[in-house]
Amino acid sequence: MNFNKVLDNVPIYEAGKPIELVVREYGVNPKDIIKLASNENPYGTSPKVVSKIKEIVQSMSVYPDDSMYELKEALANKFDVESSNIIIGSGSDQILEFCVHAKCDKNSKVLMSKTTFAMYEIYGKQAGSTIIKTEDGEHNLKQFSSMYKEYGADIIFLCLPNNPLGECLDRDDVYAFLETINKDTLVIIDGAYQEYGAFKDEKKRINPKELINSFPNCIYLGTFSKAYALGGMRVGYGIAQEDIIKTLYKLRAPFNITTLTLAAAIEALKDEEFVQDCIAKNFEEMKRYEQYAREKGFDYIDSYTNFITLKFASLYSSKKVAQELLERGLIVRDLTGYGINAIRITIGSNDQNTKVFKLLDEVLEKLK
Ligand SMILES: *Cc1c(COP(=O)(O)O)cnc(C)c1O
Repeated sequence: MNFNKVLDNVPIYEAGKPIELVVREYGVNPKDIIKLASNENPYGTSPKVVSKIKEIVQSMSVYPDDSMYELKEALANKFDVESSNIIIGSGSDQILEFCVHAKCDKNSKVLMSKTTFAMYEIYGKQAGSTIIKTEDGEHNLKQFSSMYKEYGADIIFLCLPNNPLGECLDRDDVYAFLETINKDTLVIIDGAYQEYGAFKDEKKRINPKELINSFPNCIYLGTFSKAYALGGMRVGYGIAQEDIIKTLYKLRAPFNITTLTLAAAIEALKDEEFVQDCIAKNFEEMKRYEQYAREKGFDYIDSYTNFITLKFASLYSSKKVAQELLERGLIVRDLTGYGINAIRITIGSNDQNTKVFKLLDEVLEKLK
């Protein structure tokens, strides 16, 4: 059968392997499997959110509130913007998709860092657009500027902090860069890990209101999947000037967020203490990974997120390390597909991390 030709160039996104697969393929007891491949919150969902969901779960016969009034109000309050500046998506991924389809076609250009969130390229290619990447993996604004001057771009993606590497640009540098960008270029600031970056270093914090008021061609994206511990609920948001939001709405199907998801997100916003506590623990635990890497003599990228990228240089093959770990029930992300010999590990809970180091010791010894 013939399909839309642009799809010939679209790779299929490979999600982190699910626990069920490791049980099936390697016979590991589900209790012993540790999944640190998708940057989920290892401390589970806030108990307040869980009890709220249990309370409302009885009947699901009625469609959700498609205006999403309550969640938008809560977000508008949190960020001191208007509800009309907000769109809610089934994950912030869906809003990324809306943005690309709102702006791009086969004559468009999309600019991004060489090693960044894989979905940017996938959505760009779905639209048939040309993908332009900087030479460095980590965000390098000098390179962004020179590529922008040379080729132009309809969309620029900035992932702050960046997944899968973990680095983060300073806000002031981002703002100086944005000053030089044409107002018809949509700049997408992906803040999936902003809560972590801003916690670690104030210089990384992007205030969405300040951003969109100073740069009306920007959209800020946030998600409940990471720090807010709702990966299974699928909910994220975009904050932008009203004209952008209105256009994105044209691409949205009705009821794109479930009743349970809306309730979970609203409740999660009421429990900021849970979120801040998880983030604090995250960076305490991250120190153990840094220490471990130093002891073993391999490099890591200073991370502003809830994961760390360990680079093996010529010491080990990251692909082999990831496979050996998988067979022992530990799921991590091999970055070979991104062209680097490194693994990305989500920072787990204290117990999980202790097991990670034990398994890594075992695997590194075997592969030496
Ligand atoms: C996780 C992630 C997202 C969005 O995840 P959703 O679950 O779709 O909200 C967006 N960008 C980056 C860089 C991510 O890591």
